[in-house]
Amino acid sequence: MAGLLTDLSKDLATTGLIAISQAINKGRDVGFGAIKDQLGAFQWSAILDGRECPECSDLDGKYFDPNNPNVSWIEPPLHSRCRCIYVGVLKDEIESYEVPVEDLTRADAANYARNKWWLGKAGVPSVKEIAKAEAARQAGKKIKNKPK
Ligand SMILES: [Zn+2]
Repeated sequence: MAGLLTDLSKDLATTGLIAISQAINKGRDVGFGAIKDQLGAFQWSAILDGRECPECSDLDGKYFDPNNPNVSWIEPPLHSRCRCIYVGVLKDEIESYEVPVEDLTRADAANYARNKWWLGKAGVPSVKEIAKAEAARQAGKKIKNKPK
């Protein structure tokens, strides 16, 4: 019983941390919406204190086009206990400093977002599903929906 309560407590703490991170990032989204016309990129910002995961460390400092449809898939939090945020970068800054904006493919986004279990089926397609769709696209075939 004590073990079960400890597990439940940990699950609740994890869920709470994800909700807090989502709320912080959604709040930032509202702010970015207000400067939508001036926004040139999102820059990934991780806390590099030795507790970061390899994915967040890899993403840290990278710039993404806010109009790339795959960007929302990797919006922080990337996983439970993720402390990352998107930083808004203005178009002027992107042009002045010739910032390299990443080409975030669907496969890359799905790979980064594979630990976003809370998105469920409605969220990001699996890496396997994307690879299959990409192979079919390259083969020039029409992708058919599987009967459910
Ligand atoms: Zn993170």
